[in-house]
Amino acid sequence: MDLFEYQARDTFEKHGVPVLGGIVATTPDEARAAAATLLGDEPGVVVVKAQVKTGGRGKAGGVKLARSADDAAEKAAEILGMDIKGHTVHRVMIAAGAQIEQEYYFSLLLDRAERRYLAMCSVEGGMEIEQLAVERPEALARVAVDPRVGIDAAKAAEIVEAAGFPTKTSPQIAAKVAAVLQTLWTVYREEDATLVEVNPLVLTKAGDVVALDGKVTLDANADFRHPEHAELEDKAAADPLEARAKEKDLNYVKLDGEVGIIGNGAGLVMSTLDVVAYAGEAHGGVKPANFLDIGGGASAEVMAAGLDIILTDPQVKSVFVNVFGGITACDAVANGIVAALEILGDEASKPLVVRLDGNNVIEGRRILAAAGHPLVTLADTMDGGADKAAELANV
Ligand code: GDP
Ligand code: MN
Repeated sequence: MDLFEYQARDTFEKHGVPVLGGIVATTPDEARAAAATLLGDEPGVVVVKAQVKTGGRGKAGGVKLARSADDAAEKAAEILGMDIKGHTVHRVMIAAGAQIEQEYYFSLLLDRAERRYLAMCSVEGGMEIEQLAVERPEALARVAVDPRVGIDAAKAAEIVEAAGFPTKTSPQIAAKVAAVLQTLWTVYREEDATLVEVNPLVLTKAGDVVALDGKVTLDANADFRHPEHAELEDKAAADPLEARAKEKDLNYVKLDGEVGIIGNGAGLVMSTLDVVAYAGEAHGGVKPANFLDIGGGASAEVMAAGLDIILTDPQVKSVFVNVFGGITACDAVANGIVAALEILGDEASKPLVVRLDGNNVIEGRRILAAAGHPLVTLADTMDGGADKAAELANV
């Protein structure tokens, strides 16, 4: 899960990474109040920053300086509702303004291929780092980090040196940056992140090193260790069908096609998507509408819940149920489908192609044939079923 910048800021603060004050606002009035809180009675500058999960907000006009609370409200009004690379801005963060002396870059990420972490750091931050990596790769240090050790004092010193900080002429700055890198490692480890990126990490005119922007990705595989991460989820952004499927504990991913897919086992469902996409080429280019793995226990309830999600997808024209009976035998699956259609009643309004194979397949097919539901077509093979479902979706 990617965090918004304000969530990354809060997380940084929690672990002692130096950050500036920041308050989220969803309306210009809230922005005015937030700016007033940050500015107090002193004249000064705040920054109004679009909160969207994409980079390059600065270039897109989503980061604006404001010189008073009223000015902040005006800038917030300009930024709220803006579209940045397909992301609508629903909230802004009002951040205390920094007097920037220099902008640096730092990131720590999971290097799966090398089975370790990779730290990237540069004294030339602020700009788009992809551009720096292409134009002047030597300016972006890449330092391997052993997961068992992390960024200790020695590793931090190594990164700072490699990044081109003047360790001889400005040892204090190098030391401050090194200390921040160690704290960012704490964030990475304690929060089970797969990415922590700070661009820019700045040196202020007062000589402080501060994380001015933060990008954090949390490892969902570690969610069980972090019940507190659940509230970081952006529920408004989730696809409504995916959100409903999640409530029902279904392994569902919405895709952009017309043929609803239900299968058991991730591998079988993945290959079903391929086969349907291929079959669709001969039927007006229809494509799979979703991934849905109902897993081992294909009970009537799970089947009904899965069918219900798929049938409420307005894009779906037909459904292909592709099940290989294993521990849960085909007769149980067939009974599940029949019961699910009964539960759904009139809601089940789109043609269903069912292919069963494996354990107790003969009994499974007999049950479906005997039920004789007008919407159900039986298929003998996976290819045949995919072709029939694609044909039925091409209307
Ligand atoms: P991004 O474009 O999405 O990466 O957004 P950033 O948070 O990195 O902001 C973009 C740029 O705005 C930074 O590189 C800074 O140059 C500038 N900026 C951000 N906050 C401040 C601030 O507090 N004061 C000043 N003067 N500039 C800022
Ligand atoms: Mn940035």
